[in-house]
Parts: sequence; C-alpha cells; structure tokens
Amino acid sequence: MAVASVGLIPGVSAEVGPVAFLGPNAEILPILSSSPNGTVVSSTCGTPIAFDGGEALNPVDVVLDPGHGGPETGSVGANGLTERTLNLAVALHARDHLVSLGYTVALTRDRDLHLPIRQRAAIANALSPRAFVSIHHNGGAVRRSATPGTETFHQVDDPESARLAGILFEDLHSALLPTGCPGWTPCTKGHRFDSVTAGPRRMACSA
Ligand SMILES: [Zn+2]
Repeated sequence: MAVASVGLIPGVSAEVGPVAFLGPNAEILPILSSSPNGTVVSSTCGTPIAFDGGEALNPVDVVLDPGHGGPETGSVGANGLTERTLNLAVALHARDHLVSLGYTVALTRDRDLHLPIRQRAAIANALSPRAFVSIHHNGGAVRRSATPGTETFHQVDDPESARLAGILFEDLHSALLPTGCPGWTPCTKGHRFDSVTAGPRRMACSA
C-alpha cells in the first residue's frame, strides 16, 4: 500500500538567514536558536545541541520524508524488502525529478538513518517548504490485506493540503493500477476523498 501524508505550509516571506546546517555526516540539523554566543540545532536524535556550524542551508520548496530507517524497518515484504529501503528509493527518485523541474528539495534522510518523528518535524519547520510529503509503504503484519490500495493523508481544514493530497492520490492510484501485481485489487473506496475535522493536527484519509 502506497501512502503519502502531505502538509502544505504558506510561502515564506523574507529570507532571514540560514535555517539549518549540514552536520558532520551531511545530515540536516535545523537551527532551534541562534545568538552571538552560539547556535543550537536539533540533533538527529531530536535533542538540542550546540553546533559551531558547517554549510548553511536555506528554505526549500519541498521536503520529502522517507519513513522509517535504521533499526526501524517499517513493513517487510515476503522477499525481505524493507519499507525503509523502498521509501528512500521513492524519495530519491522524486527528489531527482523535482530538481530537474527546477524545485529546491531536501530529504529528511538521504540514507538508511533513524530519525525520530520530532526531528522530521523540526527539519520541515526549519526549511519552511511549500510542500512536505512523507512517504510510506504500509503492509499487513502477517497476511495479505483484503483491501490493498493507496492512502493519502492531509492536514485537516487546509484546502491546499487536501488538494495536493488529492492530486497525489489520483496519480498514485492510476500509476499502480495497471501494474497487475499479485493481490492488487482496485479498492472500491479508492476514488473517495474524505475530510475529517477532528483536531487541528489530525490527518484526513483517502483510502
Ligand atoms: Zn511506514
């Protein structure tokens, strides 16, 4: 099951200087605070640390967030393929395509790296993208799902986020449908695009 959760963030107004640094291993370290006494960034563990600074990063158009990584495999296929690997492969392809179209793109992780949710959010908030897309490939724990399909989640009460999620859903659904992979059944709910309204951070689901 291909899943994308989508958040659209209003455009950034003025450039206010670097918003993140590249760490020693080229990981993105979002700036939490900066003063003449030093800069505090969020480490890959999601904890605040002092940082002397490396290459400075500015806001980007799109942040792609490959789910899972490191010891967190995500779902595992019958042939041993892990979701963490597949999520990253899709994100790298998407990044290359978006860059070829002229967009600036950052990945929350560009390798097999474990990142807590709060670090992914810190990166997204720091880079102020127009679009933030998390990529997952969910799977059943022990047996094939009776209703395989595609889900997209978007921010509640955000029409722009819902619109992007709808576009992604339609494209994912139509791209996967002809593959004829075993067990793939066109989901009868696949063309529905619902919105829920409970809570500002809840995600709406189209499944
Ligand atoms: Zn996942």
